[in-house]
Amino acid sequence: MELEKFSFGVGDRFARQAKAQLAAFELAAKAGVEIVPVWNKSNREHTMIGSSPDSVRAAADVAVEALGWAKGYYVDADHIRLDTVDGFTASSDFYTIDVAEYIGKAESAELVSAFVAAHPELSGSVVVPGIDGALALSANNVERIAGKYIGSVREAGRIYRHIATVKGEGEFVTEVSMDETDAPQTPPELLVILALMSDEGIPAQTIAPKFTGRFNKGVDYVGDLAEFEKEFRDDLAVIAYAVGRYHLPKNLKLSVHSGSDKFSVYAPIRRALADFGAGIHLKTAGTTWLEELIGLAEADGEGLALAKEIYGKALAKREALCEPYATVIDIDPTKLPSADEVAGWSADRYVVAVRHDPSNPGFNPSMRQLLHVGYKVAAQMGDRYLDMLDACQESIAKNVTENLWVRHIQPLFLGK
Ligand SMILES: [Zn+2]
Repeated sequence: MELEKFSFGVGDRFARQAKAQLAAFELAAKAGVEIVPVWNKSNREHTMIGSSPDSVRAAADVAVEALGWAKGYYVDADHIRLDTVDGFTASSDFYTIDVAEYIGKAESAELVSAFVAAHPELSGSVVVPGIDGALALSANNVERIAGKYIGSVREAGRIYRHIATVKGEGEFVTEVSMDETDAPQTPPELLVILALMSDEGIPAQTIAPKFTGRFNKGVDYVGDLAEFEKEFRDDLAVIAYAVGRYHLPKNLKLSVHSGSDKFSVYAPIRRALADFGAGIHLKTAGTTWLEELIGLAEADGEGLALAKEIYGKALAKREALCEPYATVIDIDPTKLPSADEVAGWSADRYVVAVRHDPSNPGFNPSMRQLLHVGYKVAAQMGDRYLDMLDACQESIAKNVTENLWVRHIQPLFLGK
């Protein structure tokens, strides 16, 4: 199973928007760019919402059938670990193996020295085409980096082999993710990680490092754009080099997590991909759920009333809702309007505050981020929320498709 050059992860918290999401990929195909959708949902999300992995597969299959989508599509067991993977093996054909928590965990010193001894080509100056100057990697550096990451890669190997015994080798796409950690992985670290992965026999088709800067949920990138672009290009160069040098899958590519809404990095990413002829997997995070709220509000009447109620409840539970996401949101509580104030808003006022248009003076990134992490409030409403989605489906679908197509796919893949 070989993942296409361009793939795009879509989340659908309440499993109602797959058709509207797929419509964006149809528009891309009509415009001449083939991007395959990957429906992703993590164990954490399933637990929070009370859904099961099978529901993601079912919703994807229904959408693909309804729209007659003839290209590839995948269902991603997102951020799985050894203790959570089994629930996903029946329904998923894409596995994001999350080994970030194993970074820095001690492994036997013999394994590390054996790796260093087996890879003399890494200890010195490594010339990587596409990177100005050589990567200066001393034996000490390689030992330090290998020591830091070998535990993660060995754990990824254990999880990969576990999936392979159930699904069969070559029957699924493997991604290794290390993004949910504090420090970004540098390009020299990425090179050592890829060599470790090759030795471990993991046929990863995508790798998700942590990049420099902040990838907050639902809002734009925060960080040094020039630094990001340099790092991203160096990562592409390292991957192209490692694929040849270490016999990794030829389609191995970067996976950008929390990639939705990062408008300011799309142009640098697009330039880099074109220069290197590289592919990408961009994983979105909760951006569709926010379009559900926008669609509800835009429908006015009861839809707007429910969207306001969700905000009020999210505001009341702010600290509890934000706690699991503390490292990936930046909310200024003083910028959050009171529930009473929002209760008096028009549909347009609500839509403008939440829709991700940074150029609009009414846009409120703190409110958007609070709602982003507030999906538990809607989940607890159960059928009341789901029935309202159905009632307002027309305005929701329009917003879901437009968000992916106009604000994400067009700038990233078509340069618009
Ligand atoms: Zn991630």
